[in-house]
Amino acid sequence: MANTEKSTATILDGKALAKNIREEVAGKVTIRMKRGLAQPGLATIIVGEDPASRVYVRSKHKACEEAGIQSFAHEIPANAAQDEVLDLIQKLNEQSDIHGILVQLPVSKHMDEATLISAISIMKDVDGLHPENVGLLAQKGRQPLFAPATPSGIMRLLKETDLRMEGANAVVLGRSNIVGLPIALMMLDANATVTMCHSRTRDLAAVCKRADVLVAAVGKPEFVRGDWVKPGAVVIDVGVNRVDDENAKRGYRLAGDVAFEEASRVARAITPVPGGVGPMTIAMLLENTLRAAEFAD
Ligand code: NAP
Repeated sequence: MANTEKSTATILDGKALAKNIREEVAGKVTIRMKRGLAQPGLATIIVGEDPASRVYVRSKHKACEEAGIQSFAHEIPANAAQDEVLDLIQKLNEQSDIHGILVQLPVSKHMDEATLISAISIMKDVDGLHPENVGLLAQKGRQPLFAPATPSGIMRLLKETDLRMEGANAVVLGRSNIVGLPIALMMLDANATVTMCHSRTRDLAAVCKRADVLVAAVGKPEFVRGDWVKPGAVVIDVGVNRVDDENAKRGYRLAGDVAFEEASRVARAITPVPGGVGPMTIAMLLENTLRAAEFAD
């Protein structure tokens, strides 16, 4: 029987919020330049041929351009030596017109991601993935110079809700370095009681059901079902998954990690996919790049 219950959740519009933030950054860049301060500059590095990386990096450059931020693209062949990338990073660390450096992940398999990221100056680590910045994020009472973009975007979206983070039960699905781990740390810093789940967690549905705020970053389409969601919870869907769809123009559609229709009948607020967390990631990168330029003033 078809479920005729209507969605009652507020849809958290990341696209609109991200647009406002991007305009704010653009305004601040204009003011800087009128004052004779340096134009913020971002360098991106792609290592290898990953088509998704190219799409992501292209949209980052476009966003920079719209915000008045200079951006410089570096593409390294998949079979290059790791030292070639390290030399480039070293050069960019020293270059005064470059304020932010971003190594697009994943890199070629024969390279060590951690070595590359550790080579970035922490003053230019606009992705917030340098171990020193992650260490500062993880320590009580300390703040990193830069926090990773996607979880920063999630925290901004959460501020748009009436959720009181202090004392809230927060459940995070996924423990990746770019999303799961840092968002858990950020919500802990905001005084939530945080539970982190991963592939070995038992009775996931029951753990999720206790969440006042549920963040799904698993990478499996519609993995979180409506009956895993506590009535009135805030649901943040980070997942971006391609699902075959013969009715779609490209032959696929994008689906999140949450079964949106089901969850939106139970949740108080929920992010859509696309148009929720995704646009916020780029907006936060622009903010971080501006911040990096301000550090260098
Ligand atoms: P990832 O590195 O693949 O990590 C996935 C996490 O999910 C891992 O911690 C894994 O646990 C956990 N997991 C896998 N299967 C599970 C299961 N059955 N039950 C519970 N946990 C399970 O993924 P990611 O990079 O964080 O990305 C997650 C999703 O977010 C992807 O769809 C990605 O495309 C999307 N994403 C979106 C943005 C954005 O801007 N919107 C940014 C980044 C990522 P283990 O650690 O135990 O393996």
